Amino acid sequence: AQDHLQNSEKLSVAGQLAAGIAHEIRNPITSIKGFIHLMQSGFGEKKKYFDIMTSEIERIEMILSELLILAKPQLIKYERKDIRVLLSQVMTLIDSQAILNNVEFIAEFKPGVTHLYCDENQLKQVFINFIKNAIESMPNGGKITIEIHSDHDQEMKIRLIDQGCGIPNDVLSKLGQPFYTTKEKGTGLGFMVSKKIIENHSGHIKVESEVDKGTTIEITLPFSN
Ligand code: ADP
Ligand code: MG
Repeated sequence: AQDHLQNSEKLSVAGQLAAGIAHEIRNPITSIKGFIHLMQSGFGEKKKYFDIMTSEIERIEMILSELLILAKPQLIKYERKDIRVLLSQVMTLIDSQAILNNVEFIAEFKPGVTHLYCDENQLKQVFINFIKNAIESMPNGGKITIEIHSDHDQEMKIRLIDQGCGIPNDVLSKLGQPFYTTKEKGTGLGFMVSKKIIENHSGHIKVESEVDKGTTIEITLPFSN
């Protein structure tokens, strides 16, 4: 009975995801088709239409690239990596976006074990997703504190702390549902994909948030997995 329940749960998650994908991809396609029709009938400004069509295509690409992470678990390659190095590389990668948004990174890497068996690219994807969310939560800028702690030589905790808008309870309960977003240009996939990656690493994620104060994302990863 237990197995059966788990199976039907899995199916419903897959079904939910499939329905979401169909919906999310049909919308931009419908819009692209509409603009093609308009252009065929010779109406309006072509330049503007091309811009909108390009941004709709980019949206489909963004959704697909996030989904591909879920679809390719067989490519996971676990290696011993220094998490401080991974986080520093991610900060460098996002630095221009941070500066543009008046956001400052503060790295607090506590002494202790800093190496983990992990898939480097997937963990980077997780950090990028969460740091992007943190930047997007602070339209007027602010600080993002990035902490690494290692507990009892058993597990590592990585905390990403922002001073942003915070997450109200109704949004908090929907975090991780595919395509749930409060942003005009969001995909609502970042959190779900990140959670999946961390679970694949035998870890877990805790979210603490206070509206108008900020959000702390705490990622716990075991040293041996
Ligand atoms: P997206 O960023 O594309 O909207 P995510 O899955 O990354 O999708 O996040 C889902 C939603 O969770 C966001 O739309 C936002 O409302 C909320 N959220 C996530 N992280 C934060 C954060 N650090 N601060 C405030 N809200 C957040
Ligand atoms: Mg996001």
